[in-house]
Amino acid sequence: MEFNKYGEVLEHISLKDYNTYKVDSLCKYFISINSIDNLVNFVNDYHDKYFIIGNGSNIILKRESYDYPFIKLEFNEINKLNDNEYYVGAGVMPGALINELYKENLGGLEWASGIPGTIGGIIYNNAGAYNDEISNFVVSVKVLDKDDNQIKEINKEDCGFKYRDSIFKETNRYIILGASLKLRNVDVKEAKELILDRLTRRKASQPLEYPSAGSVFRNPEGDFAGRLVEVNEFKNYHINDAYVSEKHANFIINKGNASGADIVNLINEIKQKVKDNDNVELFLEQEIIE
Ligand SMILES: Cc1cc2nc3c(=O)[nH]c(=O)nc-3n(C[C@H](O)[C@H](O)[C@H](O)COP(=O)(O)OP(=O)(O)OC[C@H]3O[C@@H](n4cnc5c(N)ncnc54)[C@H](O)[C@@H]3O)c2cc1C
Repeated sequence: MEFNKYGEVLEHISLKDYNTYKVDSLCKYFISINSIDNLVNFVNDYHDKYFIIGNGSNIILKRESYDYPFIKLEFNEINKLNDNEYYVGAGVMPGALINELYKENLGGLEWASGIPGTIGGIIYNNAGAYNDEISNFVVSVKVLDKDDNQIKEINKEDCGFKYRDSIFKETNRYIILGASLKLRNVDVKEAKELILDRLTRRKASQPLEYPSAGSVFRNPEGDFAGRLVEVNEFKNYHINDAYVSEKHANFIINKGNASGADIVNLINEIKQKVKDNDNVELFLEQEIIE
């Protein structure tokens, strides 16, 4: 199929620079789409499997190569709607958004400054940190409904936001195009200090010097996944170059050429041992891409 009419196409590329684990899987077609019309045409014309990739910061590329297209949305607009409300394209990263908002003394997203995702991925996962999450800011989400190929506006109440979950994740029916966010008035100097404090805390507790995709497992009710992994003596345990971090047991890091399969095998070993020893079933926070 001729994909050039929808956007820029890269063929037979390594995905290493498109996932934060730096897994070196191959991709047959990587298509960057920068207009909604082109996306609508693509979805209209192409009925086989494809994958929407954000910044690749919550995925494990399990296969050595992917024959189906990866679609990257280059929707990077940040538009003011009214005093406290902005429309933000799905491809925007938190750092860029936060800086833009400070020009208007708006903020509230300081918790997201260390999250290397796109607004699309952040809404899909209802990402959060430090007792805040994106759902607290969403007014509505603009989507392409794959069922009828119509563009729709979904109000926050209908987004099914829960802990690291949403209707977008549950149904896989929608492509997120962007969202209207309601921001808070902030003192920019104080907000910047808060960001610095958050980043310092992250650096102290997380292995940011190595490629990873953030927390591996969800915290089980009343416990911490990292504690369970640690008491089962997995710290520094590895399969090839996929290591359980010494610094934070709920992180798997790539110390060189870890494959997605290495990471998945390590995850399965951990799950099995924690189940056998502690009778707790650990659930993944990251997503395995088959
Ligand atoms: C160092 C580090 C720290 C992290 N800290 C946190 C944290 O504090 N809190 C937290 O919640 N997460 C954290 N994460 C995880 C990750 O950054 C978030 O889950 C983020 O929301 C993923 O966004 P992404 O754009 O990278 O999505 P991707 O990983 O590219 O994709 C994830 C899923 O979202 C879907 N998706 C992406 N964009 C769209 C779209 N436009 N429409 C429909 N579906 C879409 C993809 O298809 C895929 O299923 C961290 C990750 C790292 C590496």
